[in-house]
Amino acid sequence: MELATKSKISWCPGCPNATILVAYRKAITELCAEGKLKIENLVSAAGIGCHGKITDYLNTNTFEALHGRVVSSATGIKVGNRDLEVVAFTGDGDSFSEGFSHLLHAAERNVGISVFLHNNETFALTTGQATFLSPKGFKGPSTPGGDTDEPMNPLLILLAMGATFVARTYALDIEGTKRIMKDAMNHKGFAFVEIIQPCITFFDTREHFKDSVEWLPVDFPRQDLTAAMNKVREVSEKTPVGIFYQIQKPTFEERM
Ligand code: SF4
Repeated sequence: MELATKSKISWCPGCPNATILVAYRKAITELCAEGKLKIENLVSAAGIGCHGKITDYLNTNTFEALHGRVVSSATGIKVGNRDLEVVAFTGDGDSFSEGFSHLLHAAERNVGISVFLHNNETFALTTGQATFLSPKGFKGPSTPGGDTDEPMNPLLILLAMGATFVARTYALDIEGTKRIMKDAMNHKGFAFVEIIQPCITFFDTREHFKDSVEWLPVDFPRQDLTAAMNKVREVSEKTPVGIFYQIQKPTFEERM
């Protein structure tokens, strides 16, 4: 199965968007080999931002949405044909600044799609402005004196909205990211995965995350909402990754 296209990769050399692409191709290949996915049934959608180029490099069905509208577009695709496996790639600018309400309502409705958030904590495509996920003090063209706001906590918000699968991974851990992607795509219902993706040109956080990323213990209680919320709110030198929460509930398309 050839998942690459003839398009030339135009991300900055070394950008971790490329490792997300590699992890996703591996996840697709393994899911197809395991009989859990038919390639003709897969739709890879993306919004606007550096992450959005991923659809250029994927030989699957693809859809490029307007800025901030990838989650609502993915919802429409899923509702239009429930046999499809729909994956929506988005960025922190795309879904936590531009199309925030679409994301919240899709989570609350438990739409059967997977949302993969490339969180580079900046509007990278437009040269590094602050998003709502940028850390306090972040300096960029729109905040030369430093961002005065605390960042939103994306996982806490998605847990509060009722997402039935909530996870985090690190883009430079390709195997770990592939595993989480497969689990998300196998999940029946709304799956949200924050992928920490340093922007090596405008906000290079590789040095910080290299040592701080720490996988959740295997016995972490995934069905305990309070435990999940406490974990994602924890302030420590470590950044926990893994599946924080997973439950089953009827999906939006089943209830329609
Ligand atoms: Fe990657 Fe940042 Fe370059 Fe965009 S600007 S391609 S996120 S390194």
